[in-house]
Amino acid sequence: MARVFDFTKKRRESALEMAANRCQRCWSERDLMVHHRIPIADGGMAELSNAVVLCRSCHRDSPHDLFLFENLYLRFSSPKEMILHYGAKTEEEAFEKWQAETGYKGAFDYRSHGDLIKEKMAHKVRNGGLPGFGHPFGYDIKDGKLLLNAEESKVVREIFDMYTSGRSLKKIVRYLNYKGIPPKRGKKWYPTTISKILKNPLYCGYISWDGVIKKAQHEEIIDVGIFNEVQKMLSKRSNKPPLILG
Ligand SMILES: [Zn+2]
Repeated sequence: MARVFDFTKKRRESALEMAANRCQRCWSERDLMVHHRIPIADGGMAELSNAVVLCRSCHRDSPHDLFLFENLYLRFSSPKEMILHYGAKTEEEAFEKWQAETGYKGAFDYRSHGDLIKEKMAHKVRNGGLPGFGHPFGYDIKDGKLLLNAEESKVVREIFDMYTSGRSLKKIVRYLNYKGIPPKRGKKWYPTTISKILKNPLYCGYISWDGVIKKAQHEEIIDVGIFNEVQKMLSKRSNKPPLILG
């Protein structure tokens, strides 16, 4: 359903062309996405006039407030630029000068697009829902629910077994790549993929999002005791305190 409001391929291409294939804020050429100036939720349309090209990080940090977005965020590519423009000493002082110039009454401490998404997700997790993550290895997602994937969950168990029996991340990676076991995305395994799996409480039946950890409804792949043991082993290597689940 949501796709109805998405830009067509042609409009997306036109928007990128008009922006010379650069982020309209910071001029980066990497991770570009075509976004809605006025969000769909606020009545924004999938028209070219409502398109703005932003890189991933500029989009994440962009203010939800449209006036701020148009007149401050897109105008200055960084706080430094705004400070220099107003001959101010701090970002707050520059913002006050900008306020005097534009008559903007809102606060300096704005909520960004990324903040709003985080709040929404944390709320969902607190109420027993799933955060909007991609398909985690070991599971399939059906009707918003996590279902065990037989083949992949076997591999997850193997990864935990190998790690508890003392194999390094590199050795586990080598083994999986050698056996030709495909990861969820891409073609090869990397130590970071393995360490993400080993640290994910999802595999022992919990859901974690932005600091909120909750017992969830889905079937676990490994025992919580093994998960805790692995966290202790990982923390010895990283010198960070382990995450221990009840
Ligand atoms: Zn940017």
